[in-house]
Amino acid sequence: MSVAENIKKLRDLVPKNVDIVAVSKFQPTYKILEAYNTGQRLFGESRVQEFLQKKKELPSDIQWHFIGHLQTNKVKQIIGETSVIESVDSEKLLELIDKESQKAGVITKVLLQIHVANEETKFGFYPEEIKDYFQKHKFENLKSTKICGIMGMATNTDNKEKIREDFSILRSIYLSVKNERYIGLNDFNILSMGMSGDWEIAIEEGSNSIRIGSSIFGERAY
Ligand SMILES: *Cc1c(COP(=O)(O)O)cnc(C)c1O
Repeated sequence: MSVAENIKKLRDLVPKNVDIVAVSKFQPTYKILEAYNTGQRLFGESRVQEFLQKKKELPSDIQWHFIGHLQTNKVKQIIGETSVIESVDSEKLLELIDKESQKAGVITKVLLQIHVANEETKFGFYPEEIKDYFQKHKFENLKSTKICGIMGMATNTDNKEKIREDFSILRSIYLSVKNERYIGLNDFNILSMGMSGDWEIAIEEGSNSIRIGSSIFGERAY
């Protein structure tokens, strides 16, 4: 099936309140355009250089989500270029994004990435860290950054119960923050979880933004 067919089929299956971020990392621009021409506007990239290059070549109304580990020495380059940075995985990175956003005179939207999966990635806040961050109201120090929600991945396994458990932990963290209705966190409403292999379970567990690569574009050519 073509990219356009894949994406249309996916849209038919996914509830309307759930955003689909088309993960285009390692994919050539002609495939991204094929998705774009079906009306797709949300795309996800995971490497700074590749992202900036593609952004230059592609239509300017694409909303780019950065979803890969962001090294501190590359922060400056992507400030002002993203719609959302989904993969903010430490307080240090968050503070740097805020500092650079302030310097550049822009507001940067971010999600905080939480580490729940076994060994899937070493990046992300631990659940206790994230609770502490909000309970101490540390977000109030941010001047040019809006925390818009939570991102996470489930363990890479065939065990559906384990996957569900991981997503359920992410949802409970998301809701525990959201339900506090903190002043200054009015835009906290994205729960980004679910990829090609597990998005159905993610949506059952409350995801409202899924990140889909291979089911749309086919296998990646690394
Ligand atoms: C690559 C990637 C995805 C998409 O993975 P697929 O299995 O191809 O859908 C989603 N989220 C993150 C963080 C990724 O790095």
